[in-house]
Amino acid sequence: MNASFSQLSLAEPLARAVAEMGYESMTPIQAQAIPVVLTGKDVMGAAQTGTGKTAAFSLPLLQRLLKHESSSTSPARHPVRALVLLPTRELADQVAQQVKLYARYTQLRSAVVFGGIDMKPQTAELKRGVEVLVATPGRLLDHIEAKNAVLNQVEYVVLDEADRMLDIGFLPDLQRILSFLPKQRTTLLFSATFSPEIKRLAASYLQDPITIEVARPNETAATVEQRFYSVGDDDKRRLVRQILRARELKQAFVFVNSKLGCARLARSLEREGLNTTALHGDKSQDERLKALDAFKRGEVDLLVCTDVAARGLDIKDVPAVFNFDVPFNAEDYVHRIGRTGRAGASGLAVTLVSPSDSRLIADIEKLIRKKVELEAFEFEEDRPRGRINTGRRAWGGDDPRDAIEETPPPRTVRPTRRSSAPVDPFFSQPYEASEVEATPTWESASRTNAPRPGVSSNIKTKRKVAALFKPGD
Ligand code: AMP
Repeated sequence: MNASFSQLSLAEPLARAVAEMGYESMTPIQAQAIPVVLTGKDVMGAAQTGTGKTAAFSLPLLQRLLKHESSSTSPARHPVRALVLLPTRELADQVAQQVKLYARYTQLRSAVVFGGIDMKPQTAELKRGVEVLVATPGRLLDHIEAKNAVLNQVEYVVLDEADRMLDIGFLPDLQRILSFLPKQRTTLLFSATFSPEIKRLAASYLQDPITIEVARPNETAATVEQRFYSVGDDDKRRLVRQILRARELKQAFVFVNSKLGCARLARSLEREGLNTTALHGDKSQDERLKALDAFKRGEVDLLVCTDVAARGLDIKDVPAVFNFDVPFNAEDYVHRIGRTGRAGASGLAVTLVSPSDSRLIADIEKLIRKKVELEAFEFEEDRPRGRINTGRRAWGGDDPRDAIEETPPPRTVRPTRRSSAPVDPFFSQPYEASEVEATPTWESASRTNAPRPGVSSNIKTKRKVAALFKPGD
C-alpha cells in the first residue's frame, strides 16, 4: 500500500504540514481511516502503536474543523470541538505534539492536559480557548469539575489506546466524560486489541462504526522475531547481557511486572555496567520525561519499565524488547512487543520463561494464535571453548578434533523472518535511536574485557551467535 497524501485533497495548510513532516506516503491505517473519518462516520480501528494512527485520526479531524477556524482572540470563538483521550501522560503529550505539528499552519488551537503536574498553566491555556483538547481522563475530569473545560460543543471524540484505558481502570472516568458530550458527535475508538470489554464499550458509545483493521486484532507484528527462552530466575540478567552482545543491539526495553522489580532490576543491571534507567509509576512526571529523553538521545541503553509506565512511549523503533517477566495479562505481551518492529522495521522480542509461567504462556498462545516454541538457552560461559581461549576444549578431552577451532561465520543481522509485512518505503528506513553514536555499555564492557561473572577477564567474548539462533521459519 503506497497511497500518497495528495490523493486526499487535504486543505493546503494541512498538506503543507504533512509535506514538512517528510511523509512520502500514507501508512495502511492512514490510507484506510482518513477517507472514512473525513466522511464523519464513527470508526473502530484496530491498530497497534507505531502504525501512524495519530495522523490517521488527527488529519481528517483537523480538516473537518477548519470551517471553525477563527483568528479572533476571544475564547468564545475557540470552544473545544475535538477531544482525544489517552491512557498515559507520555502518550497524551506525544499525541498533542503531533497534533500541534499537523495544525501549525491553521488557526486551530490545541492543548494537552494530564495529571502529575500543576493545573494552573493548563487552566490558563483552556481559558484562552482550544479546539483540540488532548487529555488523560483523570485530569480532564478535574478540569471539568473546576469548570475550566466545557465540552458541550465537542463534535469529535477519540478514544485512543482504548484497551489500555480499560486495563488501567478508566472505564468509570470515560463514562463520566462521555456523559458531558453532545449526543450528536463522531466517535473514533482505537485499540491494539479487541477484547470483549472493548466491544462492549464500542457497542455503548459508537454508532454504526466502520471497522478498520491494519493487522488482525491481537496479532503481533509480522516484523517482530519472537523468541521464548526457558531460563531460571538467577540466569535472566546473564541471558539479557549475552543477547545484547551477541546481537550487537544498541538499545532495548526490558519489561517487568512490578514497580519494585523494575527498580531492583535497573539497579542490578546498572551495577553490572549497563547504562540503565527505570521507568515505573512511582517516578514523577519529570523523572519519566527525563528518562524517556535520555533514552531517545541514546544516553541510556536499557529502559527497564512496567507496562503502565511504558504505555505510549513514542520511540520510533527499539531494536529489541525483553520480557524479563512474562506479563500477567496476555494483551500486555502484544503491547510490549509492539515497541519493537514498529513501522515495519524488524525487531526482536525475547521472553524469559521460568517453569511457573506455563499458564501465562498458554494465555499468550491463545491470544496471538500461535504456538510458542520454548527454547533452551546456551550460555557462552557454559559452552565448550575452542583454541581461541585455552588451546583445548574446556572439558579437556584428548580428541584431536578438539584442536580444530570452532569459529562460526561472522554474524549478520537476521533478515526479517516474514516478508508479508506491509511494504511502504518509509517502513524500510532503518532504526534511528539517536543522533549520538554511542557505543552500548555491554559492547564497550566486552571490548575492554571488563570481568563478567564466571569468566576471566583474559577471555575475549566469542561471537558464537550464529550457532545460537536457528534460521527463521
Ligand atoms: P503513531 O503510530 O501515530 O504513534 O506514529 C508513529 C510514528 O510514525 C510517528 O513518529 C509519526 O511521526 C510517524 N508517521 C506517521 N505517519 C507517517 C507516514 N505516513 N510516513 C512516515 N512517518 C509517519
